[in-house]
Amino acid sequence: MKLPIYMDNHSTTPVDPRVFEAMVPWFTEKFGNAASRSHSFGWEAAEAVKKARKEVAALIGGSPDEIVFTSGATESDNLAIKGVAEALRQGGNHIITCAAEHRAVLDSCKRLEQQGFDVTYLPVDGQGRLDPDAVRRAHRERTILVSIMFANNEVGTIQPIAEIAAIAHEQGSLFHTDAVQAAGRIPISVDEMNIDLLSLSAHKLYGPKGIGALYVRKKGPGGRARINSSSPPLLAPLIDGGGHEGGLRSGTLNVPGIVGFGAACRIAAEEMAGENERLRRLRDRLEAGLLAALDAIRVNGCPADRLPNNLNVSFGYVDGEALLVGLSDIAVSTGAACTSAKQEPSHVLRAMGVSEELAQSALRFGLGRFNTEEEVEYVTARVIETVQRLRELSPAYAEARGAHTKGRSSI
Ligand SMILES: *Cc1c(COP(=O)(O)O)cnc(C)c1O
Repeated sequence: MKLPIYMDNHSTTPVDPRVFEAMVPWFTEKFGNAASRSHSFGWEAAEAVKKARKEVAALIGGSPDEIVFTSGATESDNLAIKGVAEALRQGGNHIITCAAEHRAVLDSCKRLEQQGFDVTYLPVDGQGRLDPDAVRRAHRERTILVSIMFANNEVGTIQPIAEIAAIAHEQGSLFHTDAVQAAGRIPISVDEMNIDLLSLSAHKLYGPKGIGALYVRKKGPGGRARINSSSPPLLAPLIDGGGHEGGLRSGTLNVPGIVGFGAACRIAAEEMAGENERLRRLRDRLEAGLLAALDAIRVNGCPADRLPNNLNVSFGYVDGEALLVGLSDIAVSTGAACTSAKQEPSHVLRAMGVSEELAQSALRFGLGRFNTEEEVEYVTARVIETVQRLRELSPAYAEARGAHTKGRSSI
C-alpha cells in the first residue's frame, strides 16, 4: 500500500489509464484542429470529437448535437445560468436555486442579482434534501429558470430531480441541473427526467481536467419561457468567436481532452453498476468502523439518498484543522472544502442546520475507482486513532464524558 492515500474523489479523480491511453495520440501525431475542413488532419480530429460527443451524450441519454463542450463544469454552470438569463430576459427576471449548490451556481446567481435579476435560494432540510413543493411555491409570473444540483459534492445527498424538473416545467420554467457528482454514479436520462440543461465535468469521472460539457435540450419538453420565445436558442453564449459548438462556445476544441472525456463517459456507463456496488461496500465499511469505535460523531447527509462513494462525518470535540494535520498521510477534505483561501465552515452543512462547531469538525471522504479494501482499513484505523488522541487533549470532551458516565447526554 502506497502513502499518502487519496480519498478525496469529490474534488477530482485520477485519469483512468485507459482514458490516458486513448488521449495520447491526439497530442502529437494527431494534432489537427477539428474545425479545419480542408485536410485530413482536421477531418480525423473532427471524427474523434464526433465519437466522443456520442459517448458523452449516451451517458445522460441525450443526443450528440445537444452536447456543448466547455472548459469544465464551472463554465457549464455559468453558461447555463447566465446564458438563459440573457436569452430570456424579455420573458422574466426570476431564478430559483438552492442554498446548498456549488459555488459555480451560487456565484453565477449572485452576479445576476447585481444585474437586476431576482434569485430565490431555497433551504434544504437536515439531510440536505430540497422539498420539491417548495420549488412550486417559489414560482412567480416572471420565473424563467430553476437550477438544482443532482447530487451534492459535500454530503452526497441526491435530489428528486425528475420531480423537481416536472414542477419547473409545469410552472413554465426551464430546468438546469449540475450533475457533476451524479454522472457515472446514478443512471441519468435527460428526456425521462425533463432536464433542459445539465452540467458535466470530465475530471470528476476519471477523465482529464479542463474539459466539461453543457447538455442543451434541442427538442421535446421545456418551459413556457422556451415555448414562448419563438425561435430558440434558449441560451446566449458567454464566449464569442469562431462560432464553434453551434455558436454557444467559441474556441478551438480541446481534442485530446474531448477524446479523454468521451472514453471516461463510455467506461463510466459500462462499469457504473459494479463500481457503485463496490464503492458502497467500502464506504459502508468505513462508516461502520468509525461509528463502532467513536462516540459523539455524526454522519452528515441523507442515509436513504446518498452517493455510494460519499461519507461526510462531523467529529464532536475535535478541531477539523487539527484533525487534517493529524491525518497527513490521508488526502481528505474538511467541510470547508474547495473555497480555499478563507477557512469558513461549509455553506452546505450550515444550510443543513449543522452547528458551526460540528460543521468545522467535518471530514469529507470521497471514495473512488482506485481505492482498495486495504486502504479503507488503514484510513479507518488512522482516523479513529487520531480523533482519540485529539480528544485526550480536550477538556470539553473530558467534561462531556464525565457527564455522560453520570448518565447525562454527551452531545
Ligand atoms: C467540481 C464541481 C464543479 C466544478 O467543476 P470544474 O470542472 O472543476 O469547473 C461544479 N459543480 C460540482 C457539483 C462539482 O463537484
